Amino acid sequence: MKAVVTYPKKKGKVEMIEVERPKIGTREVLIRMREVGIDGTDTEVIESVHGGSAPEGDDYLILGHESLGQVADVGDGVFGLKKGDWVVSTVRRPDGCPNCRRGEYDMCLWGDYTERGIKGAHGYLAEYVKERPEFIVPIPAALRPIGALVEPLSINEKAIMQASEIQKRMYWKPRTALVFGLGTIGILAAMILRRRGLDTYIYSRESARTKAVKMMREIGVNYISADEVPRVVDLAAKFDRIDLMLDATGAAEVAAAAMQIVPPNGVLCLLSVTGKTKRFSLDVAAINQRLVLGNGVVFGSVNSSSVHFKRAIRDLVSFNEKWPGFAERLITRRVPFEKFDQALKQRPSDIKVLIQVSADT
Ligand code: BGC
Ligand code: ZN
Repeated sequence: MKAVVTYPKKKGKVEMIEVERPKIGTREVLIRMREVGIDGTDTEVIESVHGGSAPEGDDYLILGHESLGQVADVGDGVFGLKKGDWVVSTVRRPDGCPNCRRGEYDMCLWGDYTERGIKGAHGYLAEYVKERPEFIVPIPAALRPIGALVEPLSINEKAIMQASEIQKRMYWKPRTALVFGLGTIGILAAMILRRRGLDTYIYSRESARTKAVKMMREIGVNYISADEVPRVVDLAAKFDRIDLMLDATGAAEVAAAAMQIVPPNGVLCLLSVTGKTKRFSLDVAAINQRLVLGNGVVFGSVNSSSVHFKRAIRDLVSFNEKWPGFAERLITRRVPFEKFDQALKQRPSDIKVLIQVSADT
């Protein structure tokens, strides 16, 4: 079968190769891949910024971690899944740490986890993949057109669930949220927050991404352009209150600036993987003082497990109820499997680009 692979030791190389089709065991499921989403992490893995790695014994890594497929076959020991079911799969696979053993592999303590399509495990850009049922989440057939959004949405679901858990430390009724970044993660975060009724603002340097800006405004998310407020630290003065901030820009300087404006009783969630080095000087005493005197929290969040996937599925259904057809418009291009390289080059008008691995049958 065909698969799109990169070679972690040969920076920048991506190609389609022929690999062996997986054979399932009694407790495994064979999935016919339909669509795979592309994101910044894929590019970072290809460009060796992320620290991606091939599975032991292979020199190549099958790319792709945002999957949507249909069950093609199940082993005799698998219950609750049948041929034709629409499914998405989580990304991380556990090591033996205390968190992983409880199913919290997104909270892995030891760091010996693997991530499909990213770190030490093959991804989903292949005609077929095999999977254990505990890592598979079925989706309603009606969500088929936007199923590939479940994984990126789950990243935000986890982040926002974590923020709510953290804020149980006090009486907290969030009203205003500020999201940094107009990429898919920023957009999806703003959608969740808006859907929950928060006054939601999105800040970005990318005003040229007019389609994304327009779409955010359509659902009542306020857009603040960096042309209007060039310095992130000056944003604080624009609000009398911000309850939750979330950085998804991928820019270390934005994350650092956001840390300087954490509001009283507020929480800042950092979501960007910033693989490179970046140095600048900061007033650390002022950051510390603000966090201490304002009971501020800054926390990081990565990955997601099946609870967050299930939450994402519920939210996609509720997005469709509130804003019919809107989520589907986030998918700005679908590229045939053979032309995968076209999906790897971001265009300014892109929001989410999918590779169509196979046609529905
Ligand atoms: C993926 C996560 C993953 C993270 C770090 C993200 O793009 O969505 O599942 O944990 O990259 O590798
Ligand atoms: Zn672990």
